[in-house]
Amino acid sequence: MSLGYLSSRSSRWLMGVSALLALPAAMANERVQVVTSFSILADMVENVGGEHVDVTSLVAADGDAHVYSPSPGDARSLANADLVVFNGLLFEGWMERLISASDYSGAVVTATDGIQPLSFAEHDDHEGHGHDEHGHEEHGHDDHDHEEHDHAAHADEHAGHEHGDEDPHAWQDMQQAKVYVANIRDGLIAADADNADTYRANAEQYLQEMAQVDAEIRALIDEIPASTSVITGHDSFGYFSNAYGVTFLSPVGLSTEADPSGASMAALVDVIEQENVKALFHENMTNQSIITQLAEETGLPIAGTLYADALASEGEASTYLGMMRHNAQVLHDALAQPGHNESGHDDHEHSHDDHDHDHDHSEHSH
Ligand SMILES: [Zn+2]
Repeated sequence: MSLGYLSSRSSRWLMGVSALLALPAAMANERVQVVTSFSILADMVENVGGEHVDVTSLVAADGDAHVYSPSPGDARSLANADLVVFNGLLFEGWMERLISASDYSGAVVTATDGIQPLSFAEHDDHEGHGHDEHGHEEHGHDDHDHEEHDHAAHADEHAGHEHGDEDPHAWQDMQQAKVYVANIRDGLIAADADNADTYRANAEQYLQEMAQVDAEIRALIDEIPASTSVITGHDSFGYFSNAYGVTFLSPVGLSTEADPSGASMAALVDVIEQENVKALFHENMTNQSIITQLAEETGLPIAGTLYADALASEGEASTYLGMMRHNAQVLHDALAQPGHNESGHDDHEHSHDDHDHDHDHSEHSH
């Protein structure tokens, strides 16, 4: 060990001492310090962790995690964390770089570990755009980071894109979101075994609530004709579509990083005319001007706001369960045709118990 190394270690040690001097207040608070990349995960952690956790979300409610640039404060939040939770599947590629760049060496939960990912192609073929058309001009600020990461899925032909071959928006299907909750539960137990029983009980309770909301969503979406298509800001609803129905098209791809080119907008206008597109929806965290422009060009109505990649700052959609319920209700209110069930419903696996869903719906309607 060289003197130079010792000297550098001791100056770091001194910095550590000064940080320790600020600790008494923190030590009084023995809650598990959890940092999540975005707001939906933060709500899940709060539900499972309850009174035993303090949760910090790096991307706030109504924020866009695809294009987020971490701040020095985010690195400090990470350095003070006991547990870090992020989505994975390159939803927030900056998060893995932030973890690598910070001194954080604690547990990391990848919420999508163990889900069944949808491949990009599975819901891209029918859309009037190609993701190869994305511009890269917005990436200059983090070009230096690209040298450091090594995601195999991050193929060269997509250089600069923050998505891989798999759709990261798995929380939009509650069956997949159950896996998120299990991963979060296990992460909290690993970080704080003393409260393992509480985390298990909280997770069980939360999973039951999720099952109920899942049934409500199915009942609402079942009243929408199966051939219905809608347009949202970006491809954030592939899992929702796969689980519940409704075809979602968008002017851009799986990430929000690029503006749609003129060519892809023109292609989308053609698709709107060919397919059974009934309405446009804003997303809470993406630029609304694209949807507004499409509404002007096509005469289609903008039928509301869907919560895609972030919770609302306040109100019904400020929790994950509330957000999912809100989205289904908004889609239902714009697109439902009660009594359509006799036809066009064959592709829903749950069509055999439609009468039960109708009954549920009357109980849950607002
Ligand atoms: Zn997204």
